[in-house]
Amino acid sequence: MDDLREQVELLESSANLSTSISDVQKAIDQLTAARAKIAAGAQTALTLAKLQDPFKKTLDAAQKDLKPIYSGLNKYGKVLDRKFKDKPLPSAENDALSSHPSLINRAIAMHLLREGQFSVASTFIAEANRRPPHPEPTANTPNPYLKESWERDLAEGTFNSEKLQRQFADMYHILHELRNERNLEPAIQWAKERSDELEARGSNLEFELCRLQYVRLFVDRRDDDDYMDERPDGPLHAYQYAVQEFGVFSKRYAHEVQELMCALAYWQNIEQSPYRRIFYNDSGWEEVAHSFNREFCSLLGLSADSPLFIAATAGAIALPYLLKMQSIMKEKRTEWTTQDELPVEIPLPTPYHFHSIFVCPVSKEQTTDANPPMMMPCGHVIASESLAKLSKGARFKCPYCPNESHPRDAKKVVL
Ligand SMILES: [Zn+2]
Repeated sequence: MDDLREQVELLESSANLSTSISDVQKAIDQLTAARAKIAAGAQTALTLAKLQDPFKKTLDAAQKDLKPIYSGLNKYGKVLDRKFKDKPLPSAENDALSSHPSLINRAIAMHLLREGQFSVASTFIAEANRRPPHPEPTANTPNPYLKESWERDLAEGTFNSEKLQRQFADMYHILHELRNERNLEPAIQWAKERSDELEARGSNLEFELCRLQYVRLFVDRRDDDDYMDERPDGPLHAYQYAVQEFGVFSKRYAHEVQELMCALAYWQNIEQSPYRRIFYNDSGWEEVAHSFNREFCSLLGLSADSPLFIAATAGAIALPYLLKMQSIMKEKRTEWTTQDELPVEIPLPTPYHFHSIFVCPVSKEQTTDANPPMMMPCGHVIASESLAKLSKGARFKCPYCPNESHPRDAKKVVL
C-alpha cells in the first residue's frame, strides 16, 4: 500500500498536468496576440514569420513536460497491477441472477427509494418499465418465469411506487428535522399516531423521543451561558412537558420517568449529578434518529438497512473465498453438491448475522426448511432426516441420553 501512496503523491506533486496546461495557455496567448496584431494592420507574412519560432518552442516545451506525466502514470499502473492482482471473475456456472432480472431491478429501485434518491429512482423505474428485462435461463433455472407469477407481481408491485416514495419522503423529512434542525416534533407526532403498533412491537421509540424532548427543554440555556444558573426556565419547561406528556409512560417506564423527575432536584449542577449521562449524551440524537429509521422501515415491513447494500457487501466479503473454493474444486475435480448450504464458512461481521443456524450433531449437516431441527421429549435436538433414519418409524433410544421416545413425539424447532 505504501508503494501506491508514494506513486499517488508523485502524481499529485510533480507528474501532473499543470505545467503542460500553462504551456498550452502560452501557445494560445501567442496566437491571439498575433491575430490581434494582424487585425490592427501589421504585415501578415512578417507577423507569422516572427511567430513561428517562439510558437514552435512553446509546443516543444508542452511535449517535453508531458513526459514525466506519462512515466508517472505508467509507474502508477504497474503498482496498481502489483497491488490488486488480476483475479478471474466468477463464472456463469453459479449465476443465480440472470433468471430474475425484474427482481434485480426491484432491488435497485427499492435501494434508491430508501436512500432518498427519489428522482434517480423514478428515472430508473421509468426506463425499466420502457424496456422490460428479459430473463435468461441459467443452469439452475432453465425456465425462468414459468412458475413464478409471484415474482412478476412482486416486481411490478414495486414499480407502482408512488405510495412507497411518499412514505420514504416522509421518513427523510422527519430524519432531516431530527438530525439537522434538532426538531423532535414531526418524529413525536409520527410515533404518537402509531403508538399502539410500536408498543405491540416492544419498541421504545415514542418514549425515547419524548425523553429527548424533555432533555432538550431541560438544558435549553438560550444564548446566555449563566442563564440557567439564575433562573430555572429550562428545567421548568421540562417539568411542564413531563406533566403533560409522561402520564402514558408512567407504568411501562416508571424507573426512567422517576430518573428524569429526580434530575430536577439537580437543576443547578446537573453536570455533576448522577443524571449527567442522560443530559449530556452526545450520541443521544443519532441514537434516536437511528431508532426512528429502524422502526419506520419495520412498520413498512422492511429492514432498516438496504438489502441491496447488505447483499453487495456480504457478496464482496464472500467472493474471494468462493473463488478460491472454485479453483480448489476444479483442481480436485469435485462437485459442490449441497444446494442450500455453502461449503465454506464466510466470516461476516456480527451485524450481518441474521439467523441462528443449527447443525445436526448426528449427520453434521446444517438444517434446512425441508430438513428442520426436531426436539425429542428428552430435550435433545437432531435433524428431521437423522430422526427418521435412527427411529425407522418406531420407538428408539436418543443418541445422547438413555431416554427412549417415539418419533411422533418429537417437536419441530423453529430458530
Ligand atoms: Zn436425549
